[in-house]
Amino acid sequence: MDYRFDTLATHAGYSPDKEHHAMALPIYQTSAYEFESVAHAKDLFELKAAGNIYTRLSNPTVDAMERRVAALEGGVGALAMASGHASMVATFLNLAEQGDEIVSSINIYGGAINMMGVTLGKMGIKVKFIDGDDLSAWESAITDKTKAFFVELIGNPNASIADVEAIADIAHRHGIPLIVDGTFCTPYLCRLKDFGADYIVHSATKYMSGNGTALCGITVDCGTFDFAGNPRFPQYNNPDVSYHGAVFGRDFGNAGFITRLRALILRDLGASLSPFNAFLIMLGLETLSLRMQRHCDNALKVAEFLEAHPDVDFVNYPGLKSSKYHALQQKYLPKGASGVFTFGLKGDRERAAKFMDSLELIKNVANLGDARTLVSHPATTTHSQLSEEQLRAAGITGQTVRISVGIDDIEDILADLEQAIVKSR
Ligand SMILES: *Cc1c(COP(=O)(O)O)cnc(C)c1O
Repeated sequence: MDYRFDTLATHAGYSPDKEHHAMALPIYQTSAYEFESVAHAKDLFELKAAGNIYTRLSNPTVDAMERRVAALEGGVGALAMASGHASMVATFLNLAEQGDEIVSSINIYGGAINMMGVTLGKMGIKVKFIDGDDLSAWESAITDKTKAFFVELIGNPNASIADVEAIADIAHRHGIPLIVDGTFCTPYLCRLKDFGADYIVHSATKYMSGNGTALCGITVDCGTFDFAGNPRFPQYNNPDVSYHGAVFGRDFGNAGFITRLRALILRDLGASLSPFNAFLIMLGLETLSLRMQRHCDNALKVAEFLEAHPDVDFVNYPGLKSSKYHALQQKYLPKGASGVFTFGLKGDRERAAKFMDSLELIKNVANLGDARTLVSHPATTTHSQLSEEQLRAAGITGQTVRISVGIDDIEDILADLEQAIVKSR
């Protein structure tokens, strides 16, 4: 099957079932599946036969959505979980164990900084945060214990653009895989595999859902990273005691990572996606390209409006020619720079609050990628667990307002921004 993006977005992973011929994806709301025989059950448990056992491990509705996302990213497989964070934790734990290290950009979602820095830290996995724009910092953070690099292509919240291809080159030279969070770009704006990402994680809660109805995370295995003989990864080169002695870096072709993610990590962490949420994400994927293009087009108009406004102090949108990330945006995101960015009005934290409280159409919500335009105040919400120093490193101040530009009418969005700016004077 060699179809183009919009055909994959509407067809991949599901065709009408043979029994009922349902055109739309059925919701298989079941916890478990009947075995044909004791021997069949044994084969399923030993991964000798493919099939469903129990919905914590797999479900046909979830499977169809996973196949669609894998097709859109060009990966060998994908695994969905109950939220973006669940997928991230699972992805990290599939590579790193107690005593290991991960190198991460600091220009990422505040909740991820907290989860990685504090919770993974308590589990004995040390995450070194660096300035993601500083290529030499990636290289010098590497030790024998480094098991992964992590970065967001478009960083939350300031829409910084990471030079993923250059970061991948450094990682691969040292036998380290690169994990990229593609939440803001989605496979429509950038196919991260083409730039060297080995594993892609998404909060599908955002643009993939597109309407703010379902939490979901998904990890895509690009099938590009070879574990065989790599001394950093004994867990992929030695027989696994908790899985019938399988050697994950050898026995499953180039899908060892995603097989282990399901067979060990999802099995044991149990943060499975509900079939109903998979159905909602599948609906969102069908219109992904239409929505993303509108998000991008509207966001550029909002950014240009703000940049030209006398009350505005700064705008961080890589789609603007004035942005220091504009060249990277042209390289990685030629169709548009997505819909999320930050800006600040002249004044202080109080002015930002007065502006946000004066908005009528645009809602103050701790979410993004919704069809509707949303704002949030990172310093007091999504990034509030960060220290002053971390906030400074992440480029967030009390002035900073994050906007997720929706697909609502651009003239109405601009009018609401204008009246709230005037009221906040
Ligand atoms: C929201 C978000 C997450 C976390 O995803 P959840 O679905 O909320 O768990 C991770 N990364 C980025 C970039 C996000 O915006």
